[in-house]
Amino acid sequence: AKTQGRNTYRFYEPALQQRGARRLNLENGLKRALELGELMLYFQPKYDCARRRLIGAEALLRWQYKHEWISPTEFIPLAEETGLILPLGEWVLEAALNTLAEWRHQQLVDDEFHIGVNVSPAQFWHPQFAQRTLEILQRCLPGGQGLLELELTESCLLRPSEESQRTFNALRQAGVRFAVDDFGTGYSNLGYLKQFPLDVLKIDQSFVRDCIDDLSDATIIRAIIAMAHGLGLAVIAEGVETLEHAEFLKREGCELLQGYLLAKPMPADQFAEFCRQLAFH
Ligand code: C2E
Ligand code: CA
Ligand code: CA
Ligand code: CA
Repeated sequence: AKTQGRNTYRFYEPALQQRGARRLNLENGLKRALELGELMLYFQPKYDCARRRLIGAEALLRWQYKHEWISPTEFIPLAEETGLILPLGEWVLEAALNTLAEWRHQQLVDDEFHIGVNVSPAQFWHPQFAQRTLEILQRCLPGGQGLLELELTESCLLRPSEESQRTFNALRQAGVRFAVDDFGTGYSNLGYLKQFPLDVLKIDQSFVRDCIDDLSDATIIRAIIAMAHGLGLAVIAEGVETLEHAEFLKREGCELLQGYLLAKPMPADQFAEFCRQLAFH
């Protein structure tokens, strides 16, 4: 047993070291990514299949570092742990709003078309989050009532405090909308649904993926749709990859869809082209 233990130790150590090295390397890279212009936003359309029109786009952060695309699922947690998420988050907000302002200017999108921006708990809980967000909104998209939708995960909503209530209210007054991202994957009790001024539930893609074959996933989706409608909230499904997904969701009363079926996330100029082509059909 002793030998085995030692072997196990020897076997795992280099792997751990390697992981640590990659982490450090990425951390250092991320610190400079902003100034080096290595970050960019991709945009994925959100579609209303009842009214047959685009209702908005979600901004998704992309990072190309030393010729490698690093997934946000890897670098966002790093940014959260190091505090880099604060400057990064403000960059995302600014870039997303500027892009929407440009699309509006070019009349590529209609008046109600919104931009969805992901917000990490560390950003949301920062005491100046509301103030800084409103400053950026005012600067980049003055009078942009209803055009910014913040996507919060349930972990942002776990601890209802007076402070988060104030944050919501301040943003809400300026017409900022709120979506609950990855809905149904958190562990919270659902009391926050009546506590905060929310607008949209986003059904997590893990439920959508197997909704055709898996009765539990189908049931959960039905329940989320019923709950959203009962609470007067909109509901959108993400990760919609197939026509079967879309038809199931439509049938169940979820008319807002996002996923590869319509389009993958893409750079702003490609998104503009996508809008032009839609307009011709
Ligand atoms: P999310 O907010 O749940 O974003 C949806 C993810 O699903 C995106 O992955 C998107 O590219 C992917 N996706 C969209 N449609 C489909 C589909 O039909 N099938 C499949 N399999 N996937 C689809 P992405 O871009 O890799 O982002 C991963 C996560 O990273 C996001 O999950 C979000 O939590 C985080 N993230 C991305 N950008 C930002 C950002 O600017 N700020 C923060 N705080 N987090 C971000
Ligand atoms: Ca999201
Ligand atoms: Ca999501
Ligand atoms: Ca997610």
